[in-house]
Amino acid sequence: MSRLDFTLEHTAAGSGARAARFQTLHGEVQTPVFMPVGTQATVKGQTIHSLKATGSRVLLANTFHLLLRPGLEVFEKIGGIHRFMNWDGPVLTDSGGFQIFSLPTSRQMTEEGATFQSYVDGEVHLLSPESSIAMQKAIGSDIMMVLDQCIPATAPRAEAEAALELTHRWARRSLEARGDSAQALFGIVQGACHADLRRKSAEFLRELPFDGLAIGGLAVGETPAQRHEFTGVVTDHLPTNLPRYLMGVGTPLDILEAVHRGVDMFDCIIPSQLAQRGTVFTSHGRLHLRRAVYKFSDEPLDAACTCQACREHSRAYLHHLIKADELLGWHLLAIHNLTFYHRLMRDMRESILQDAFLPFHERMRVELARDDVRHPAVKPKPARVFRYPRLGDYEIHPGAGGVNSIRQISSGEVMHSVNRPDDEANRLYVEQSFLARRLAAPGAATEDLVVWDVGLGAATNAMAVLRCFERCQAGANGAPLRPLRLVSFECDLDPLRLAANRGSYFPHVRHGAPQAILARGHWTHASGGMHWELRHGDFLALLDLAPAPDLIFYDPFSFKTDAALWTAEAFARIFAACAPKPAELYTYSAATAARVALLSAGFHVGAGAGTGPKADTTIAFTRPEGAAAHPRRPALFGNDWLARWRRSSSKTPASLSPEARTALENQIESHPQFARTTLTETQSSEDTG
Ligand SMILES: [Zn+2]
Repeated sequence: MSRLDFTLEHTAAGSGARAARFQTLHGEVQTPVFMPVGTQATVKGQTIHSLKATGSRVLLANTFHLLLRPGLEVFEKIGGIHRFMNWDGPVLTDSGGFQIFSLPTSRQMTEEGATFQSYVDGEVHLLSPESSIAMQKAIGSDIMMVLDQCIPATAPRAEAEAALELTHRWARRSLEARGDSAQALFGIVQGACHADLRRKSAEFLRELPFDGLAIGGLAVGETPAQRHEFTGVVTDHLPTNLPRYLMGVGTPLDILEAVHRGVDMFDCIIPSQLAQRGTVFTSHGRLHLRRAVYKFSDEPLDAACTCQACREHSRAYLHHLIKADELLGWHLLAIHNLTFYHRLMRDMRESILQDAFLPFHERMRVELARDDVRHPAVKPKPARVFRYPRLGDYEIHPGAGGVNSIRQISSGEVMHSVNRPDDEANRLYVEQSFLARRLAAPGAATEDLVVWDVGLGAATNAMAVLRCFERCQAGANGAPLRPLRLVSFECDLDPLRLAANRGSYFPHVRHGAPQAILARGHWTHASGGMHWELRHGDFLALLDLAPAPDLIFYDPFSFKTDAALWTAEAFARIFAACAPKPAELYTYSAATAARVALLSAGFHVGAGAGTGPKADTTIAFTRPEGAAAHPRRPALFGNDWLARWRRSSSKTPASLSPEARTALENQIESHPQFARTTLTETQSSEDTG
């Protein structure tokens, strides 16, 4: 016959949640119940009056700590813990098993018990099932616990089974030691996270004359999901006519889930421990009172709470106490947290008795998981934005038609921003320059065809040149091609690195050549017919050292980003470098400023092929006869263009001095390109011939 006279009042529909009551030597207990932890015969920082005010009914005391201090003799002489601490309610004592398990220093486990050294006086103690019960008898608790061997919840099966067998043998010895004492005694189900062992343990212990059964070995390393699962595994095999106690658990959410699975009794240090750190549970989520958002808050901690802290003090004051590490802050916040726990237990009991636990559970499992909803500590995260790969100042830029390009982050400029990069490279540079025809012309010259690739970037133009060479090579059937020498200028290799390392974004670089350029700075086609070299650095510093070009594919960033490469001075340098032989320059820009700069440098300039939405681009020749010799015979700018330019509000760069502006205007007006086409309108007409 149970010493607790346990009465199951109701089990909630659709849930394992139970409301029950039982009688102890110090009065009735209604469940579900939360037991504050009074390790040293005191709940830290609380008086018995403040405890009662929070709704505390049963206290938990620790046999292990009380055995070491004040010791068995004190309780024998004073007459038990109730008189000792002036607590007239029920007390449950644990056995010391968990503390032995937690001992930082060495301890020895034998069949007899656990031998360990006191942290108080260094004395060696043996804690056995019998000595634990003797101590708990001296303490005079209403509910005693058997000594068990506690192991991590994650312990492997063999270890868990050995601990379980020892715990079962100790359970029998504990019952024996209890004898005819009026104090109740609970057995402890072990078995770590092994369902069959948990079941075996529950079925073994339920056959013994215990007054209640506890679930041990949880909240020691398992996940919350495992905790909930194994709580359910055990309660499935516990008798309905005994109280069930989940040891050391837990958060309000843990407790809600365990009640849902049929547990009646709980203990945990969390309400007091979190209070010390300034964390409280409220009806609108957890609050972390150390946060500065409460510094000027005149409102109560929780308007829905009637505890002393909420009734008498503001958040600002409690925030101050916690920041100042004042004991009163801990005291008040612990009062609030304990009140919160006890109210939660009462609310659960009410909902069970009204058969409304399921909706309560559904609502509270959301509410109890919240942090301060009105002052969230973490700003709501924006939806995770996919970011294209980056390297240095460059990132991959998704282009039209699924073809990617590269964007310079600092300037925002996208390489080949308007058209598909590969299309633009082919149409603007490879096709317009008739590269293939130059390479494969009958009896092709043995002299290198030198192509300058100004602004290697992600090697879009260079690879278009290379592919063109490979097509010519394949179509030549062994006939000799003109040797091709491609000279790429680039000061920053990050765009090519970015593209070469992300071949999935840039099919055009899936070739050994870009990797060779990155690794060695040059690459030669297996036929020996094409050589590609990198001139790494500032174009204007390097161009004089490069072989004179036949074709220039001029594709640096725009004037806005890289102004130095679009000046008359820059083009004059290029023009000079081309001097040994006729050369052609192709560029995507159709800007008047660029064309004026080219003209002033001595180039003969006309409109290049349009690509995509671009109506035209720019083509320039170093020799007057260049355009006429070009297979497409592009028209150079003539009278019309010059007339438009004269009317233009931005004829010359605004940055020029008046003298320089006049000089530039004279240069353009006197350019032989116009002299030849407009004999009447230009002042320099007599210079032509
Ligand atoms: Zn409160």
